[in-house]
Formats: sequence, C-alpha cells, structure tokens
Amino acid sequence: MDPDPDEACSEHRPTKASKPTWLKAACFILILIAVRPFSTAPPTGATALRFEPPDTKPVKEKGPASPKKKKKTIYLTFDDGPNKGTQKMMDIVKAEAIPVTLFIIGEHVYGSREQAAVFDSIMTCRYFEIANHSYTHARHNQFAKFYLVPDSVIADFTRCADSLQLNNQIVRTPGRNIWRTATISRTDIKSSATAADSLYAAGFIQLGWDLEWHFDDQLRLKTDSDGMMRDVDSLFANALTKTPNHLVILAHDQVYQDPADSAELHQFILKLKARDEYLFEVVSRYPGLKN
Ligand SMILES: [Zn+2]
Repeated sequence: MDPDPDEACSEHRPTKASKPTWLKAACFILILIAVRPFSTAPPTGATALRFEPPDTKPVKEKGPASPKKKKKTIYLTFDDGPNKGTQKMMDIVKAEAIPVTLFIIGEHVYGSREQAAVFDSIMTCRYFEIANHSYTHARHNQFAKFYLVPDSVIADFTRCADSLQLNNQIVRTPGRNIWRTATISRTDIKSSATAADSLYAAGFIQLGWDLEWHFDDQLRLKTDSDGMMRDVDSLFANALTKTPNHLVILAHDQVYQDPADSAELHQFILKLKARDEYLFEVVSRYPGLKN
C-alpha cells in the first residue's frame, strides 16, 4: 500500500490553481536562455583561445538515491472499535498516513449514532482496513463458554461479516491469540482449538498477534512508547515473530480516548517511522494467509 495523504480520505481539499499558459511559455523561454550552453566557436574575427580543461578529476554523476528496501513489516492492528477511543486513534493514523487494520465488533457499529458515524468514516478512508472481531465479542466476554460451541462461534463471525458487508475473511478471535492461516496454526488456550479449526474450515482466516500493547483496568497503558520500541526491537532481534521480519501488534482503540495515552500512540508511530527500516502494512498483506 502506498498512501497518498492528499487522496487518502474523503474530506474535500481545494485544488491548487495552475499557472496560465502564457506564463508557462514565458518561463520556458527564460529557462532556455539561462541554460543555453556557451558556444566554443570563437566569434568571427576574434582570436581563437585554446580551451584548457581545468585540472580536476571527473565528477561521478549522482543519480537519484534509490529508496532503501525496508525489510521488516509492521502490522498495526486495533481491536474492539468503534468505541470512544476510535476517533482519536483515527486522527493520529491519518496524520501519519500509515495503513492499519481495525478489527471491528459488529454490535459496536450499531451501539450509538456516533459509533455508526465513526464506522462510516473508517469506510471512506484508505488508511483503514476493516476486519472481523465477531458480532458480540464472545457473547460479551463469556470467552470459555463461547468457544465451547463451534457452530455459534461461526454464526457470530458470519453475522458480523454479513451485517458490515466485509470484503475479506480475516478475523481475530476475542480474548484468544489464535492463528489459523495456510502457514500458521497456533492456539493459546487449547479448549478453543476445536472452535478455531471449525472457523477455519468455514473459511475464516484467524490472525492473532506477536505483541500486545497492554492496558490496566483503568484503561491506561502499562507501557510507554519507548517500552514498546524496546519490545519491537527484542522480538525482531530474537526472531520471536510468527513469521520472520513480520510483526503484528495488537492495540485497543478504547485506550486512546485518554490524551496522554493517545500521545504515546502518536510517539510510538513517529519512533517507528524514524527508524526508516519498517514498512507499515494491513493484515491482508501478511504472508501465507492463503494457499
Ligand atoms: Zn477484543
């Protein structure tokens, strides 16, 4: 994905006024006069001077710097929206013009008029990829019971996909770090494995995470942006990501309604960008999702 900030979202932006044609022509003539090379032929009747090249080594022409190939990819993902923190997170992402993935809870879209409006604005902005985080979030966080009945798990994700008309089959299981792709099969809590397998058989690719930005019961971040940078470095350095050089980060929208925590999110993104070695991507670009 190659975001263009000017065309990223649906907000209207004024177009730049262009120069009139006669002004462009006049500029072009002036440039031609200014850069016209001096003739080496002597003017008629003048003594020809022998041209002595200056005693300098030839200068190698520098071409445009080729863009550095970024070898590590970061997938920033935000769960549980739309909620009260979603808009702030979106403002930061749009300001930094990076692609991210939002794992949306179906029920939250219909929770209030504001949340429906936030979902609409997510849909119209190219920085955001939408993925499925179920309709009821495991029947409102009843995780153990929820995963015991595979058919109702499938039904809950299908309801979310249908009601939001999602265009991909990528899901994240609420309360569980489960991976089911063509190349990865991991289950953090084994009692959920059968439901995960059934969900995969029903066509849903499940994407967990390599690193979570944790928060406490007051919805405040437990780690600042520097701490997250250390974790990112450590995971890459020790090859602890599920796929080498690809890192999926889980964050939660609701945390970023707090101004200090949203500032940390902004700092984290700025610090990642400053490294110039990371490419940001949406999860549908994660390698090996499908055969
Ligand atoms: Zn969740």
